[in-house]
Order: sequence, then structure tokens, then C-alpha cells
Amino acid sequence: MVSRESTLQHRLLRSQQYALYAASLTYVVYLLLGALVDPPVSLAQAVQTPRFGLTLLTGLACLAVWRWPQEIRTVYLVAYGGCLLALALEIPRLLDTDLSVLQLFLWQSVNVLVSFLLLGSRWGLGVNVLSLLTILVSLTLRGPLTGAQLADWLTVCMILAITAYVSYLVMTFIEGNLLTHEQDQGRLRAARQDALTAVYGRGAIEEELERAMDDSRKNNTPMSVIVTDIDHFKSVNDQHGHATGDDVLRAVAKRLRRTVGGGGLVGRWGGEEFIVLLPELARPEALIIAERLRREISDQPLADLNITASFGVASYQGTNDTPNQLFGRADQAMYQAKNGGRNAVR
Ligand code: GH3
Ligand code: MG
Ligand code: MG
Repeated sequence: MVSRESTLQHRLLRSQQYALYAASLTYVVYLLLGALVDPPVSLAQAVQTPRFGLTLLTGLACLAVWRWPQEIRTVYLVAYGGCLLALALEIPRLLDTDLSVLQLFLWQSVNVLVSFLLLGSRWGLGVNVLSLLTILVSLTLRGPLTGAQLADWLTVCMILAITAYVSYLVMTFIEGNLLTHEQDQGRLRAARQDALTAVYGRGAIEEELERAMDDSRKNNTPMSVIVTDIDHFKSVNDQHGHATGDDVLRAVAKRLRRTVGGGGLVGRWGGEEFIVLLPELARPEALIIAERLRREISDQPLADLNITASFGVASYQGTNDTPNQLFGRADQAMYQAKNGGRNAVR
């Protein structure tokens, strides 16, 4: 299959991981500094505060994300549930002790940003509406507030809502770009791929051949190509129909691709003729691979038919060699295999 994996999704996941680590680490450092300046009376008392629970939760979330990076959303959602609980518990305490609401608000703002980055625009919006509701319910349950407290909390809610809205806009922009990028990648892949067999199409494999030869020229490394043509393919079409012929072409392409694996590129040159590029491989190794391909095709039926193919191998011969000459030598070798009785490697 012709595929160039999109690295953008991968980079986004990395950014999400780092954002979670950075926010968690900053929070833990902040709590440690706080504990140094104003140490808790006893360990038992420290353990009872919501902050201790939050620190534990943060540490566990970081560990889980490090261990299962693909599950980052689930981990964060679970951790977010804990955050909401801590938020609900912390608000009445802040009001009772007359602590600054700024403390809680700043951390919650960081959480707003991280939540959108990790959960995407839709889920981000959902959990942030839930956070605001948690704050409002907690305030209402706590009973009447003074005018100054009410003003503080209203400001906090407004700023959190604005932060959430801006994060939402930024995230929808990122998601839109990601989607466009994926569509472009899909179109690019389709354009490079042979429609029938899903290996590289003629244009793409010619480009790859040129690139592989350039690499060999630059790095002074060997490279080889194998050209293969199905034997008596016309009679497959004549005896079993064009559709079966197509099935055979697909099956041959699949078997070539599977046997070559990550060590080379398979392309359809045209009709029932394929080419395999083997970067870094000199003729002796390429001959071994061609022989393996020959056996893979002839030993087991393809689309319920006994199929054989002929193979020609040619290797890069130094700076004056061109893609046309290299292909020409492999094609000539393949015709020698045909003339020698087919189902052979030359
Ligand atoms: P040889 O052993 O000498 O290679 O004999 P051959 O019959 O394979 O060679 P020939 O070049 O005479 O026939 C190739 C046939 O492949 C003719 C053409 O109709 C058929 N063909 C080319 N492209 C396709 C395709 O996409 N699908 C199908 N079903 N047949 C195709
Ligand atoms: Mg043929
Ligand atoms: Mg042919």
C-alpha cells in the first residue's frame, strides 16, 4: 500500500502530552513551594486537603499518559472528574478562610486551555460548561455571599468563560486545518497509487526510482531493481475473463508487497508488469529476493489460478547510470527469463 503516514496527528499528540506534563509539573512545584513557605501542621492535616488529592491525581495522570499515550483523553477525563470534585470542595473553604480566589482561578484557567487542547473543541466545551456549573452550584450551596465575594466570583466566572471561548475558537481552527491536511494527504496518496492494485502508480514509482538513484549517487551505496511480468497473462483474460485477470493483478501486487515488506517499494509499471525498487541492495541480495518473489507467486495459487512470472534484476552501476538505463537492463534480463522458458530469474 502506498502510504506516507501523516506526522501532524503524531505531533499534536506530543504537544498534548507535553502540555499535560508542563501544567502538572508547574502545579506540583507551586504546591511544594507553598508547603515550604507555610508548612502544614502535621502530615495527617496535609493529606486531608483537596490539594493533596489533586497532587496525587496529577502525578497519576502524568504516569498514565506516559505509559499509555494513546489513551490521553480518557486519562484526562478521569483526572478532570477529580478536578471538578476538588473545585467543589475548595470553593467553600476559600470563602470561609477568605483566601484569594485568584489562586483557584489561575489554575482553573490553565485547566481550561489544557482541556481544549486535549479533548478537542466539542468535549472541551462540554467539560468547561460543567466546570462553570460546578462553581455556580458550589457557590449557591455555600449560602449568601458578601458583595465583594460575589464581585470576585463573578469576575472569575466571566474570565473562565472568555478563556474557554477563545480556546474553543483556536481549537476549531486547529481541527479545521488538521482535517484539510488529512484530506490533502488522502488525495496525494490516491494520486500516487495505482487504482487497481494499490501499489505505487507509474508516475510515483518513476519518481521513487529517480530519488533512489540520486541517493545511491550521493551516498555511493548500491541499489537494485527487479522487473517482473506475469507469464501468459493474456490467456488468463481469454480463459477466465477480464475480471479474473484483475483479481490476479491485485493478488500478485499484494504478494509482491507482502514479500518485499519494508525493504523495498513496489510499483505497477503498466499492464501486468511490476517493478520493485531495492535501495541499498547489491545484485547478489537482489537476486535472492527476486527468487523469493518468484517462489511466492508460483508456489501457491493466486485468485485460484496457478500463476507464474518472469523476473529480471539489474543493479546501479555508478554515477553515469540513469534510471532509463537501469530499468532497460532489468527489462532485458526479464525478457531473457521469458525466452529461457519463463518462471525464472535473470
Ligand atoms: P508473456 O508470458 O510473454 O508475458 O505473455 P502475456 O500473455 O502475459 O503477454 P502479453 O503482453 O501478450 O499480454 C498482456 C495482457 O495483459 C494483455 C492485456 O489485455 C492484459 N492486461 C493489461 N492490463 C490489464 C488490466 O489492467 N487488467 C486485465 N485484466 N488485463 C490487463
Ligand atoms: Mg506477460
Ligand atoms: Mg507484459
